Amino acid sequence: MREEERDKWYQYHNEKFGIPLEYLRREYEEELSGKVPVDAPLEVPDRMDTYYKYSYGQQSRFFRELRENKKIYGAKCPQCEKVYCPPRAHCSLCYKPTEWVPLKGTGVIKACTVQYFTTSAFIKKLPFICAYVQLDGTDFIMMTNMEVEDVSKITVGTRVEAAFRDERRGTITDVYFRPVD
Ligand SMILES: [Zn+2]
Repeated sequence: MREEERDKWYQYHNEKFGIPLEYLRREYEEELSGKVPVDAPLEVPDRMDTYYKYSYGQQSRFFRELRENKKIYGAKCPQCEKVYCPPRAHCSLCYKPTEWVPLKGTGVIKACTVQYFTTSAFIKKLPFICAYVQLDGTDFIMMTNMEVEDVSKITVGTRVEAAFRDERRGTITDVYFRPVD
């Protein structure tokens, strides 16, 4: 296929399916070069969109409690009594099924760093804190969303409390943490 025809071919599929031109050029350069054996499998561009449901499985209650009741729940092992948050359906140490326990939503920063670079999704929030918090009444740490005016005031040992968004969607970002005044 001549270069001009190839460009038209790329353009056609770009407009028909919304497939990026750079993808089409990369994936079909060889096919359109005329060097592929005539009996080799011919692949053509197409596009598939899909809707699907993602299940939180045995962690579902944790997310429902965030969304419906603005509550954080941990998972307690009935044998060793360790409390997990983020929750686990089974104790990692004893393999026993855990039980739900409500938490107060306060805790302490165990590790943190200030982010000055990020992906486009979070760029308006820069600089922000990425922190691991151990919630009171738990034995493990969880990675949290922090919202802080002055990032220089956050350090290991800072006490924090949970706050909940007005619009909650049943995701981990329904809750965020801020320093206790
Ligand atoms: Zn256990």
